[in-house]
Amino acid sequence: MDRINVLIDKLEKEHILSQSEFAEIIRNHTPENDEYLFEKARTIREKVYGKAVYMRGLIEFTNYCKNDCLYCGIRRSAANAERYRLSEEQILDCAETGYKLGFRTFVLQGGEDNHYSDEMICNIVSEIKKRFPDCAVTLSIGEKSRESYEKYFSAGADRYLLRHETANEEHYGKLHPKELSLKNRKRCLSDLKDIGFQTGCGFMVGSPFQTAENLAEDLIYIHELQPHMVGIGPFIPHHDTPFRNEKAGTLEMTLLMLGLVRLTVPNVLLPATTALGTIHPKGREKGILAGANVVMPNLSPKDVRKKYLLYDNKICTGDEAAECIACLGRRISSVGYELVTDRGDFRK
Ligand code: SAH
Repeated sequence: MDRINVLIDKLEKEHILSQSEFAEIIRNHTPENDEYLFEKARTIREKVYGKAVYMRGLIEFTNYCKNDCLYCGIRRSAANAERYRLSEEQILDCAETGYKLGFRTFVLQGGEDNHYSDEMICNIVSEIKKRFPDCAVTLSIGEKSRESYEKYFSAGADRYLLRHETANEEHYGKLHPKELSLKNRKRCLSDLKDIGFQTGCGFMVGSPFQTAENLAEDLIYIHELQPHMVGIGPFIPHHDTPFRNEKAGTLEMTLLMLGLVRLTVPNVLLPATTALGTIHPKGREKGILAGANVVMPNLSPKDVRKKYLLYDNKICTGDEAAECIACLGRRISSVGYELVTDRGDFRK
């Protein structure tokens, strides 16, 4: 039998491979291997979550950021970014709109913006939970102290997304300024999990300097952490960053990674990301068919959407949330799955 398919079988059984085995798949896989992998990924995910695809309403509430990650369009030194912040009232309005549209998870994402104190974040979280008790609140606001994470959790936040970006120290150093470290990123993730958040890590595919070995390390780290969610999307250059002339990650490699993550952590909640929809018109549908089971339509007010540009050519920045849901619903049915409105918690 085909050597790569043998490795895929082994991963399906053991949920882990060695770094060199993962790297071998990443280097040598063919379209036939991919189909073999995706078929297994779909079967596993259907065993746990059926045909459901969960939706999360993304509220991008600030694009101010104190960090200077080299890939990111809202990095501190992106001088042309038009900065904005949503007030507590505006954030609650987004949630209200989202609730009426059927959303039962709200993801509050932003740059690392110290304008929002822990107290403000806690107020926003507890107000959303009070008004919409049947909803989950996810935070995605970067690296904080354990004490801050504990406060958010006590205020009612259910989940936290913090991509590890790359599990290789040296690679991490090439993507980030020297004040940021993989060590602290990992510390945050283990604190979050320990506190009781449904926790998500993740990485970009095709980020500058990334090797097959690096991607293999990402998979091994994910196996170690056993996160509840994993966010994976292609790197896409942003014109106002040092990586403006770098190549974007590919559809094919992103799909492969989605499939491999599904076999590594069978129960994982795995989004078909907006970045994937940006590099290919059918990217998200293909993501679903490779093992993804979450989509994250944008709930941010229309007038700020074009300002939260992490990368160039981001899709869906002109649509109303309602249009986004209708469009995603059609896309998901077109590949045989069903967009559902429940909270979509992690299943053991
Ligand atoms: N400040 C928060 C949210 C970051 S934005 C945090 O630190 O977690 C969410 C994710 O967008 C990042 O984790 C990164 O993986 C991704 N991202 C940033 N720039 C990108 C780019 N140019 N292309 C693709 N994804 C990007």
